[in-house]
Amino acid sequence: MFYTGAPQNTKRYKINSDLTNLAISKMQEEGIDLNNIIVHAPYIINLANSDPSKYDFSIRFLIEEVKRCEEMGIKYMVLHPGSHVGLGVDEGINNIIYALNVVLKESKNVTILLETMAGKGTEIGRNFQELKSIIAGIDKKELIGVCMDTCHLNDSGYDISNFDKVLDDFDSVIGLKYLKCIHVNDSKNPLGSGKDRHENIGYGTIGFENLLKVLYHEKLENIPKILETPYISDKAPYKEEIAMIRNKKFNENLKEIID
Ligand code: FE
Ligand code: FE
Ligand code: ZN
Repeated sequence: MFYTGAPQNTKRYKINSDLTNLAISKMQEEGIDLNNIIVHAPYIINLANSDPSKYDFSIRFLIEEVKRCEEMGIKYMVLHPGSHVGLGVDEGINNIIYALNVVLKESKNVTILLETMAGKGTEIGRNFQELKSIIAGIDKKELIGVCMDTCHLNDSGYDISNFDKVLDDFDSVIGLKYLKCIHVNDSKNPLGSGKDRHENIGYGTIGFENLLKVLYHEKLENIPKILETPYISDKAPYKEEIAMIRNKKFNENLKEIID
């Protein structure tokens, strides 16, 4: 997963096709499938808030993000559905649907993946029903999907220790065919806390064994899984975390090794 620029702002450079081609050939050398590479939309886009200046800006910027993905050959973009900022869930959902239909009209083959959210503040997407309601209003259903985030699921009240039940629930409400990506993160906070603070794999309230069950679930074999765990001493811990996931053995010294 990557961002087309800093996720906190909308400053973007023109796509350099030489660099894109270089990246694609590097990925081929390393056996990385471009279909498993995902862009995350910037956090400042809020499609749930219909305040005219912000709403139009969010829609226009998201269309540009889609175009950038298309230029790079990226098929999937993860998006936080938005926060209704006091308008209420129903109005927020209607705003998201309208905006996504405008954006997806401009998309040939970039699919937007709505992320399951922790339910912080007025975030929409705190449960499968809300995502289902959004999807129901989308015209081009072939270009909409969902990205599960295990930290967010935990914080919004879905118990990852019973992940089969969570998946069944997802399947009956939304449909498993819409699930295209998983963010695998532990959580600093307890089940249902509505907080959204990520923790390193095995160091949080979800725990290593429960996250392994997600990572190795037979129904999710072909779905890209992405770590968004916090840096340790200003360093990305992904290499070490992936090693412990591959070994299926929790490394209780992770935080010291990197330190
Ligand atoms: Fe996200
Ligand atoms: Fe996430
Ligand atoms: Zn998060």
